[in-house]
Amino acid sequence: MPLQFIVSQKGNKLLLHNGHLHSFYKEGVNKFIWRCSEYKTYKCTSCYTTTRKEIGDIIKESVHYSHAPDTAKIKIKEVISNIKEEAKTTILTN
Ligand SMILES: [Zn+2]
Repeated sequence: MPLQFIVSQKGNKLLLHNGHLHSFYKEGVNKFIWRCSEYKTYKCTSCYTTTRKEIGDIIKESVHYSHAPDTAKIKIKEVISNIKEEAKTTILTN
């Protein structure tokens, strides 16, 4: 399954999986580690590991014990992300 990303307001790619967002944390040996984007708000320590940064697979995932997925919030972020991507495309094609 391809990795799904949305672009944050700061322009960073956030990994979307199971209704949770993860921001890039660090690069390991042949792996990339993503940390829950709510780690500060909920003190969530969930991390996902992917094989590659853009088009890899998730090889390790953990449970978000401290909070439920916030699908409404993600939907809003997705819309903003799509608008930004569209704006970028428009600029490039014109
Ligand atoms: Zn979390």
